[in-house]
Amino acid sequence: MIVKENVPVWVDESRCKACDVCVSYCPAGVLGMRLEPKAVLGKMIEVVYADSCIGCRDCELHCPDFAIYVADKGFKFAKLTPESKERAAAVKANKFAKLGESA
Ligand code: SF4
Ligand code: SF4
Repeated sequence: MIVKENVPVWVDESRCKACDVCVSYCPAGVLGMRLEPKAVLGKMIEVVYADSCIGCRDCELHCPDFAIYVADKGFKFAKLTPESKERAAAVKANKFAKLGESA
């Protein structure tokens, strides 16, 4: 697995199958799908609001392709805020596409 330092969550785009599962689980609206014409399904996972990641690991635990990783417990993650929760709901309502893009 790729290890990145000083970021709470990161992805290996070569493994992502654009299934939306991680986006559906993220309670903090950190993740979203971006349009990606070169990808098989025309979209790709993106860490859009890394600073809002609370380190819950739901994305990593549910990704069927082991394509998303979360920093170890020692990382200083964010707290869940009303703004983050609202963004998570908005992304879900946007069919998992990152805000500003349509699915
Ligand atoms: S660890 Fe939790 S908050 Fe962070 S991106 Fe994954 S699901 Fe979202
Ligand atoms: S759950 Fe995994 S494969 Fe599915 S969109 Fe997220 S990173 Fe990609």
